[in-house]
Amino acid sequence: MKPLHHLLGIRELEHDQIKHLLDLAQPLIGLSRRPIKKAPALRGKTIINLFFESSTRTRTSFELAGKRLSADVINISASTSATRKGESLLDTGHTLAAMQPNVLIIRDTRAGAAHFLAGFLSPAAVVNAGDGAHEHPTQVLTDLLTLQQAWGDVSGRTITIVGDIAHSRVARSHLLASARMGYHVRLVAPKTLLPVQVERFGCELFTDFDAAIEGSDALYMLRVQNERLESACSFPSVREYHEAFGLNMRRLGLAGEHTVVLHPGPMNRGVEIATDVADCARSRILDQVENGVAMRMAVLTALCGSGLAGSRKRSGRHHGQAMEAQGTLL
Ligand code: ASP
Repeated sequence: MKPLHHLLGIRELEHDQIKHLLDLAQPLIGLSRRPIKKAPALRGKTIINLFFESSTRTRTSFELAGKRLSADVINISASTSATRKGESLLDTGHTLAAMQPNVLIIRDTRAGAAHFLAGFLSPAAVVNAGDGAHEHPTQVLTDLLTLQQAWGDVSGRTITIVGDIAHSRVARSHLLASARMGYHVRLVAPKTLLPVQVERFGCELFTDFDAAIEGSDALYMLRVQNERLESACSFPSVREYHEAFGLNMRRLGLAGEHTVVLHPGPMNRGVEIATDVADCARSRILDQVENGVAMRMAVLTALCGSGLAGSRKRSGRHHGQAMEAQGTLL
């Protein structure tokens, strides 16, 4: 298996690397449930969270992941960074890299921001925490961990992703992950919110939500990304959107008993998901949040164990370090 130097997108990951991260994350779920939520694995490591776009789950879970593994964690947001004074992303990146962090986690409105920085900031590892409408790899790894908990294995399963596919980095990362991990994706959206030629990813397309439900093992609801919509007329009204593409109890009743409900958050209750569905027993939405901390611990461990994050040497210490680190975690 190739060592993980950065986590930029699902596109860059191989099947074995995804599997390895899932294996690392699984035992880490328990750490957050202990009375003392602390393990020494990342002691002496420095992690910088650089968030230029708002976030509750992703930013908090990266911060908790680093702190629970004893790393030093610094948070920088758009409002407190020098980009407000006109500094470029590259200069901000170089400045932070000069302070010798081991990992730089970045969320940005611009697609490709993490990839761009990764080219310049060696030896720090760069993690993409969401870049525009492009990719959100740690969300999808978290989803896979949650689905693995529900089913044992995702391969051969069908995940139906519903809503604003056009602007969703989560949907794009799932399309890439489905090819690596052998699951099937159905996409449901109004035509105005489906990207052109998305079927090239090998997914099935639906504009009728009811028709897509039978045979779905998971219904994955997406928020309409108002911040990325260029025009306000992608659908007639919120009420009509909910009627056609919202998940309510009637629709959930069309699904099999085993079908689970996911949402990456933040939810717009009454728009893409009805409140009773969001809070029902088949909803795994809070499991996704809980598992997000474990998956981000796994990612940080794998990166810091790769021998690159924070080491000036590019050789040696790669293979087996992540597993070794896992041994000392718990
Ligand atoms: N939290 C997810 C993301 O950052 C989904 C969303 O914002 O709607 O892409």
